[in-house]
Amino acid sequence: MNNVMDTRLVEIYSDAVRDDRIQLVADILRSGGLAVIPTETVYGLAANAYDSDAVAAIFAAKGRPQDNPLIVHIADMDMLGDIVSEVPDSARRLAEAYWPGPLTMIMRRGDKIPASVSAGLDTVAVRMPSNPIARQIIRHCGCPLAAPSANLSGSPSPTTAEYAIADMMGRVDCIVMSDDCEIGVESTVVLLADGQARLLRPGGITLEQLEAVIGPVAVDSAVLSSQLTGRVSSPGMKYKHYAPKTKVIMVDGDCEQYAGYVCRSAQPAAAVCFEEDVPLLGQLPHVAYGRQGDDRSQAHGIFTALRRADQLGAEVIYAHAPSRSGVGLAVYNRLLRAAAFEVVTL
Ligand code: AMP
Ligand code: MG
Repeated sequence: MNNVMDTRLVEIYSDAVRDDRIQLVADILRSGGLAVIPTETVYGLAANAYDSDAVAAIFAAKGRPQDNPLIVHIADMDMLGDIVSEVPDSARRLAEAYWPGPLTMIMRRGDKIPASVSAGLDTVAVRMPSNPIARQIIRHCGCPLAAPSANLSGSPSPTTAEYAIADMMGRVDCIVMSDDCEIGVESTVVLLADGQARLLRPGGITLEQLEAVIGPVAVDSAVLSSQLTGRVSSPGMKYKHYAPKTKVIMVDGDCEQYAGYVCRSAQPAAAVCFEEDVPLLGQLPHVAYGRQGDDRSQAHGIFTALRRADQLGAEVIYAHAPSRSGVGLAVYNRLLRAAAFEVVTL
């Protein structure tokens, strides 16, 4: 396998950005290498989006299924024209409102982007990250970067440098060690090709925020179901995904119901819960992932909590289901996949 490379660790923190280090990472990427870079959503595994060999190396390093397309990251609007063949008016308005930021828009793919970036689809997913280090790296490269999340395929996305290193050491040319990711779940993905507006993956920009700018947005059935039948619009949503090694079950109920259920478990259990649940859990091993009514705190903590819960020696992890409003919809969507769609409703 692809896990015997010398991986350089490059420290670039937001309070001490070093131009020479940005340049070093950009040089690696420009010459066809792979670099793990920080973004405001999760750490990304980046390569030159115009270089099909480098793009193929991303799939190999992650063990990513070939039918799961990548997101192309840009630093400014000038780069967009080379990536897509057409910018719908809805995309222009959403870009004005939410770029740079955690919003990915799918449009018709331009000729310069190799088909492998989009897993053969005639569309391409594009995002302008707000993380200034990510944008400076893209700018120094002078080319867009294809970048999925920097985890091994199927695992929780890395939201800290430590977890990016745990998954990618020996598989990439360099890893930028930087701050923890501010948002903590991947970007919102919205399909805007052929006059459609369809939410394929919820994320840091909420459905309500999209609709405030472009009006009604359809929610793809894959967002809240396993979509085992029918056409898959977003290939990445069809897999069991984001999962720790331990089995996960999502439990939907209020704090008392949740704690009561989890404490009665016949198997050695751990809780991935809200801070408000902790006093009700007694001696049960647990990791709190956020506050109950605070969707942003839940998004920020969920992937780290899933990774930490794997270290608690449990046979089953019970994750407390968040409310599905705002960014909570994204957290619910990720937990549903971590649990391979197993939900207990109390
Ligand atoms: P990741 O790069 O790990 O954040 O995953 C990217 C997500 O965007 C996956 O769920 C993909 O299926 C989705 N995606 C990327 N490009 C397209 C596209 N052209 N059409 C539909 N979904 C896409
Ligand atoms: Mg991913």
